[in-house]
Parts: sequence; structure tokens; C-alpha cells
Amino acid sequence: MVLNAARLFDAGKPCGSEANMCKLAGSEAAWHAADTCLQTHGGFGYTQEYDIERKFRETRLYQTAPISTNLILSHVAIHELGMPKSF
Ligand SMILES: Cc1cc2nc3c(=O)[nH]c(=O)nc-3n(C[C@H](O)[C@H](O)[C@H](O)COP(=O)(O)OP(=O)(O)OC[C@H]3O[C@@H](n4cnc5c(N)ncnc54)[C@H](O)[C@@H]3O)c2cc1C
Repeated sequence: MVLNAARLFDAGKPCGSEANMCKLAGSEAAWHAADTCLQTHGGFGYTQEYDIERKFRETRLYQTAPISTNLILSHVAIHELGMPKSF
């Protein structure tokens, strides 16, 4: 997905949806990895003495910044699925 989006970008072609979908998939993968990591480490994963708690918080951020999941879905809905911009 990333290479496809990068190729489009390098060719000067529109790549907004492709780049957004890469970011969506990446943020979901990071969050699931962090969730699994915390679960694996049990209570110690939640304590601040280890870095797992910090990574858990950090990976959740990727669903908000630099662009939120809601806005990505909105972009894809409008530009790929032909949904109306406003109601
Ligand atoms: C740690 C951190 C570092 C950052 N670094 C930078 C940086 O270096 N440079 C920079 O420019 N910015 C930076 N930001 C800002 C970041 O880009 C914004 O936080 C992000 O784009 C979300 O915007 P917002 O915070 O204004 O939330 P809002 O836009 O106010 O969103 C709040 C909630 O409403 C939802 N929402 C908003 N609009 C819609 C819509 N149309 N439809 C459905 N749901 C919607 C969002 O998904 C979210 O859940 C950073 C933010 C953080 C937390």
C-alpha cells in the first residue's frame, strides 16, 4: 500500500486516498500490536516502570494525529465511494 501510494506521489498523480488508507492501516496495526503487547505482559504492562504503558498511549495517538481515523473515513467516503460532502 505504501509503495503504491509513493509511486503515485512520485508520478505527480493524485494519491490522497491511497496515502490516507496507508495511514489508517498503519494506525490500526500499531494499536493492535500495542494492545496485544500490554495483554501479554499482564499487570506489568500497565505500570509506568516499563515502556509498554508509554507505547500503549503513543500508539493510540495515531488514530487521532496527524489525521484522525474519522477524517480518513470521511475522505474515502467522499472521494472513493461518492458519498455526499454534507447533509
Ligand atoms: C502529540 C501531538 C503532536 C502533534 N504534532 C503536530 C505537528 O507537529 N504539526 C501539526 O500541524 N499538528 C500536530 N498535532 C495536531 C494534530 O494534527 C491534530 O491533533 C489532529 O489533526 C486532530 O485534530 P484536532 O486535535 O483539532 O481534533 P478535532 O479535529 O477537533 O477532532 C476531534 C474529534 O472529532 C472528530 N472529527 C473531527 N472532524 C470530523 C468530521 N468531519 N467527521 C467526523 N469526525 C470528525 C475527530 O476524528 C476526533 O475524534 C499534534 C497533535 C498531537 C496530539
